[in-house]
Amino acid sequence: MPPLSGPLHDRLGRPLRDLRISVTDRCNFRCGYCMPREAFGHDHAFLPQRSLLTFEEIRRVAGIFVKLGVTKIRLTGGEPLLRRGLDTLIRELATLRTPEGAPVELAMTTNGVLLERMADRLREAGLHRVTVSLDALDPARFQAMADTDVDVKQVLRGIDAAMDAGLGPVKVNMVVQKGRNDDQILPMVRYFRHRPVTLRFIEYMDVGQTNGWNLREVLSWQDIHALIHQAHPLEPLDRHDPAATALRWRFADGHGELGFIASVTQAFCGDCTRLRLSTEGMLYTCLFAHRGYDLRALVREQALPDEAVAAHLSGLWRARQDRYSELRHQHVPAHHAPAAPTSSTGSRIEMSYIGG
Ligand code: SAM
Ligand code: SF4
Ligand code: SF4
Repeated sequence: MPPLSGPLHDRLGRPLRDLRISVTDRCNFRCGYCMPREAFGHDHAFLPQRSLLTFEEIRRVAGIFVKLGVTKIRLTGGEPLLRRGLDTLIRELATLRTPEGAPVELAMTTNGVLLERMADRLREAGLHRVTVSLDALDPARFQAMADTDVDVKQVLRGIDAAMDAGLGPVKVNMVVQKGRNDDQILPMVRYFRHRPVTLRFIEYMDVGQTNGWNLREVLSWQDIHALIHQAHPLEPLDRHDPAATALRWRFADGHGELGFIASVTQAFCGDCTRLRLSTEGMLYTCLFAHRGYDLRALVREQALPDEAVAAHLSGLWRARQDRYSELRHQHVPAHHAPAAPTSSTGSRIEMSYIGG
């Protein structure tokens, strides 16, 4: 039996550091790039309650992961704030300590709809930071992107509430789809640059198989950067954490910072220290994995002790050699889309199932 502590490295020498836990596969939005209504309509079969990992199970496996080297946990979904009693789970996770005795960094990615109402409670429970996804400021464009009746002001109030509650530095993630919301890039920059918020632009990714991904709808980070730079000159910043996903820039006039998550045109697999746990307890060593590893079976059906679970998890991480984005990078030109349309194929897992 291996010792219950790290450091644990995969076959490409990457340590296990970040655990993303999806706490629900449900969502109150239907963003076209993630949960298009045609595929996630009224008759869609979401996971039954009994399939979900319980809070006790999540707390237990998270504890094992922390002993194996995880220092940061991000709660995601679906929409994590839809999971009932989430603050109870956060309170439990906040008690975790690394082998060195440090608290684990607890973050969450949310669409922000329920944030205004919940921010204080989340902070009090022990959450450290939130990232809010927001794809447009224009009210109609926002509603079209998220396929919702919710007023964009509700999300903006949620962001303010998160800042007021001390859940900062708050990040705002904008997925850019060419021809759909690229006209919102500059309004978003203007709105957020004088607030204590880091706005990050995400290249539209070929994740899952329901969004009908097409490379022609991807606006590269270089194009987004050029558009912003023309109006608001930018200068590069060092990435302080090599495992961070974003390329960091700041405004040359000193007011504010920006990030670009170039998941399509500039792969960052070499620094990927992330492991994802789905709502029903499947583990994925890559966002683009085809198959998961059934952790729930180990802790529920087989009722293995911690040491045995840790041995399985160590083996899983040590065998990891995923680098999907780098391999795709060999086929996709770094900057511009090829003339021929390219679509995603294969049975990939959905973003709403595994979390972003
Ligand atoms: N519902 C929460 C939210 O939207 O923040 C958390 C889950 S969502 C799946 C996590 C992140 O994945 C969001 O920032 C979302 O914009 C991003 N995302 C989903 N589908 C994507 C895609 N096809 N390409 C790029 N980012 C995507
Ligand atoms: Fe829901 Fe987030 Fe997916 Fe949008 S990106 S549909 S908010 S899970
Ligand atoms: Fe990590 Fe896979 Fe994304 Fe590469 S493609 S950065 S290995 S999740």
